[in-house]
Amino acid sequence: MKREEIIMLCTADLAGQVRGKGFPAADLASRLRKGIGWTPTNSMITANGPIAPTPWGPFGDTVLIPDGSSRVRVDFGPDSAATHFVMGDIRTLDGERWPVCPRGLCKALLDALEQRHGLKVKAAFEHEFILESVEERPNASYALDSFRRQGIFAETYLAALKTAGLELDTFMPEYGPKQYEVTVGPAEGIAAADQAIAVREIARAVAHHLGTRASFTPILRPDAVGNGVHVHFSLFDAATGQPSNYDPQRPNGVADTAGRFLAGVLALMPAITAMTAASPISYLRLTPNRWSAAYNNLGERDREAGLRICPVFPGSGADISRQFHFEFRAADAAASPYLVMAALIAAGLYGLDEPLPTPHVCHGAPQNMSDSERRELSIERLPQSLSEALDRFEAEEKLISFLGEEFIAAYLAHKRFEASAMSDLSIEEQCERYRLAY
Ligand code: GLU
Ligand code: MG
Repeated sequence: MKREEIIMLCTADLAGQVRGKGFPAADLASRLRKGIGWTPTNSMITANGPIAPTPWGPFGDTVLIPDGSSRVRVDFGPDSAATHFVMGDIRTLDGERWPVCPRGLCKALLDALEQRHGLKVKAAFEHEFILESVEERPNASYALDSFRRQGIFAETYLAALKTAGLELDTFMPEYGPKQYEVTVGPAEGIAAADQAIAVREIARAVAHHLGTRASFTPILRPDAVGNGVHVHFSLFDAATGQPSNYDPQRPNGVADTAGRFLAGVLALMPAITAMTAASPISYLRLTPNRWSAAYNNLGERDREAGLRICPVFPGSGADISRQFHFEFRAADAAASPYLVMAALIAAGLYGLDEPLPTPHVCHGAPQNMSDSERRELSIERLPQSLSEALDRFEAEEKLISFLGEEFIAAYLAHKRFEASAMSDLSIEEQCERYRLAY
């Protein structure tokens, strides 16, 4: 039978799910102009399916307008459908930004960063995930044997990422059961979040093609280590393209501009965790001694800090000011990459607008410090449940001007419904739901 290719036009929504509508590939040019109709209430479809109480009900229309620069096409040969999708912005019928669209919100915040402070962001999302076909064995962490046991997944994945224009940096067997990690090169602005979606979806597509599943669930089981999404980021001057992160004269090499941004992220981290660690089981991961992030501390070469100054490798002869960057560790793939980035930029903007002073580096593990030592550094434990995070998020008035009331209300309604629906299940059952959902 003859076949004809279909392109999916998608959004990565409040549930961190990639959903959309398909159209004939032959119509690409006209769809890039006119988009496809989209229903506001779709934003209230939770990760596990049920629809949260919706402010819009069956009413209203929005339109999903594709951004051609985000288009991904990976050919899986004559016997499989190509993976072909493009990400879009949800707009009103008048073409305005719809306040609840995650991609539109992220772009608006990136614009504000450039307009108000002349800065742009470069970022790379580092992902950990589970490959279900791999047998769980003791002592498999980082093992060559664990690489071998994923079969041809990694090689197929590398080729597929390349086809989609992404540069694989590293692929490795990670510490946890069946756990692997993938890193790709950085991209500018919204393209970094588009890339994060491509990294996940291409992994899922390759796994599906090979008859297995890749799951980006925040944590496989309560006793496992989590699957983190670590956002590596740096700021640069929009006019000159020069990095704005490094100043050898300043403590820990953190330039004043970047320092203000980091201070905002630390100050609002307990509140924005609701957006970056967006599922109930995300909070099993954000616990001490799991190499994730349990406090809003700034660490230097510390893999448990909420925010980390990453190491530079002067030995390689490269320019330190171009290597020097930061890593936000309190995120996972239950969150839309657009919302992770939006949360990060909103908090950073707050620090720049104030402006806040560069924060001090925390040496040592916050859980081993006294209350007064933590207070001295303004360090606090991140929320320990999604409900607690949502309460912090709601109470944080500083976020309103950055995120907008309509977005905040929709996000709270969606996530509170999800948290309460999950609260009837055991932790193990919840983990199982999210393993299947992500
Ligand atoms: N699995 C850890 C996490 O949940 C991260 C380990 C690492 O790559 O540093 O974030
Ligand atoms: Mg890792």
